[in-house]
Amino acid sequence: MIILKGVKLFDGERLREGLYDLLIEGRIVKRIVPTGNMNMFEGAKVIDLSGKIACPGFIDIHVHLREPGGEWREEIKSGALAGAYGGFTTIVAMPNTNPPIDSPELVRFVKLTGERAKGAKVLPAGSVSKGREGKELTEMARMVKEGAVLFTEDGSPTVRTDLLRSAMLYAKDLGVRIMEHPEDPYLSENGQINEGKVSAISGLKGIPATSELIDVERCIALSRELDVPIHITHVSTALAIRAIRKAKEEGVKVTCDVTPHHLTLDESKILESGYDSVYKVRPPLRSLEDVEALWDALRNGVIDAIATDHAPYHIDEKDLPFEEAPSGIASLECAVAVVLDAWEKRNRPVSLDRLLRLFTSGPSRVLPESYRSLGYLREGGFADITVIDLDKVSRVDVSTWKSKARLTPWNGLSLKGWPILTMVEGEIINDI
Ligand SMILES: [Zn+2]
Repeated sequence: MIILKGVKLFDGERLREGLYDLLIEGRIVKRIVPTGNMNMFEGAKVIDLSGKIACPGFIDIHVHLREPGGEWREEIKSGALAGAYGGFTTIVAMPNTNPPIDSPELVRFVKLTGERAKGAKVLPAGSVSKGREGKELTEMARMVKEGAVLFTEDGSPTVRTDLLRSAMLYAKDLGVRIMEHPEDPYLSENGQINEGKVSAISGLKGIPATSELIDVERCIALSRELDVPIHITHVSTALAIRAIRKAKEEGVKVTCDVTPHHLTLDESKILESGYDSVYKVRPPLRSLEDVEALWDALRNGVIDAIATDHAPYHIDEKDLPFEEAPSGIASLECAVAVVLDAWEKRNRPVSLDRLLRLFTSGPSRVLPESYRSLGYLREGGFADITVIDLDKVSRVDVSTWKSKARLTPWNGLSLKGWPILTMVEGEIINDI
């Protein structure tokens, strides 16, 4: 038995008044009572967390674990551990591996390897098409049976609209959602960075904001027509936010997430750094106005989740001229701190309740119904708990990371607001 003593309690929806003691027995949250009212159980391990915030375990619905086929960049095991150290108790593994996760057997492989990892829970996403070739749908029903929680071609868009439309219809019957990486591949072809000031100065080929908008509008049109939900991941532009906001107001079942890097970095970093490939990412870092639009969207509820798009590469792979380097930012272990620190520096423009929902009940709603309880902290539920300390200041130090990635834009920076304890089904993984 473990007692988390004297915590503030965020239950998945709101921060409750007062302080609480949580009794964890085995894998379950046995009791939640106002602090001081818990009978002390003999042999229970008591962890005094006076004033820290206990939340439902954080959920990251967009993570690249690179296994199978890219184990030198990350493995399911290293990624699951990195997730837990970063404050996440559940992570969704993207299917653009080599081979891609396009069969029931591979879904099973990811799931079982994740279970053995003893870190964050790993939920597999399946690819929409066989071989990610964009031609033929995968056996979605059998893949869902093995544990696939989302379907996506992530890394690229689902180019053929007829395929996307069929996938959405199957997904509805199966109780899962399609997650779209919004990009028009013709508009973004050979693109390196955002089309705008920096592309004009640098001569690097730009990716226009309309590349994202066009795919977002396509998803909205299909969702409206079919009355089927769709999730749009890593939204990066003011244009797309405006379209999603309007669609939501009309009742279209569209959800979306944003990344910590698009919330905190803009295209000027590329110039300032002398074209450091650590800032190369897809969708690209956008303009300052876009960053502001993302924060507005956090504030007014257009965004449903914050997801990292943790994309680990070996240091040698990224150590190339900007144009030749692969796209991706690794962030799993500092993402929560990056967001909390930016939120603090911006004088807390979003209520704490809303911000915490974006890591908990928000993403859990994108998952199938049977995973809904993951986003809530309740008596009788699984003891998946993330404790955060808004006052803790610590430096990002990649040398201590559990992830195999060593490149991140925040290395060496001091950030305020960190997860200090991660518990997955009653097991403490990260206790700092
Ligand atoms: Zn993507």
